[in-house]
Amino acid sequence: MRTILLNIARGIDQLFFPRNCAGCGSDLITKEQLLCLGCINNLPVTNFHMHANNPVEKIFWGRLPVRSAASLFYFTKGSLLQRLLHQFKYRGNKEIGYLMGTMMGKTFVESNRFAFLDGLVALPLHKSRERRRGYNQAAILCEGFSAATGINFYRDVIVRAAYTETQTQKGRLERWQNIEGRFALRNSEKLRHKRILLVDDVVTTGATLEACGQELLRVEGLELNIATMAYTSMR
Ligand SMILES: [Zn+2]
Repeated sequence: MRTILLNIARGIDQLFFPRNCAGCGSDLITKEQLLCLGCINNLPVTNFHMHANNPVEKIFWGRLPVRSAASLFYFTKGSLLQRLLHQFKYRGNKEIGYLMGTMMGKTFVESNRFAFLDGLVALPLHKSRERRRGYNQAAILCEGFSAATGINFYRDVIVRAAYTETQTQKGRLERWQNIEGRFALRNSEKLRHKRILLVDDVVTTGATLEACGQELLRVEGLELNIATMAYTSMR
């Protein structure tokens, strides 16, 4: 009887606190959280954070004055990272994003290129998209980053401008670029003379980060740095 009860208790525990790896499905050992050590070790780390003129910094050359930029992982199709990113962005699995954010934080602050940051800013989503998803994935990354490093996360300092009536007059492509590229500062006095890390999930062309970065650089004395969880050269 005692064993049966114990087994039931364990079963209930498994039900409420799933102890399987989000990457490969294998059972997790006590110290592991969300991902097993095998999966963590298989994630393709770029080490960009240690190197000046890395591929992420090159994206912004001639476009945006960024002090340091880097991505933690390479993104490739069909990879473990793609599956994790999918769960994070489209399946409501915020815990994965939070874990990725802590990994970013621990890794990036190892490098003196990302030391001395004053604060984090999440690339904002359109309000309608954030409502549909229930969260902004970049903000979840910042929460994990902040928890791992103690670096302040500035919320609500920049927003994505809403679709406006006048834009319907413009051509389709122009309108799209216009919407993607419109950001507006809020409470920007908090950011004056601060070393800021702008955070997003993936960088490809860098167009959205560039537009957001341009808006942030309107703040007096702001120093801009950029970090993403993943880098893809797929254009
Ligand atoms: Zn695993």
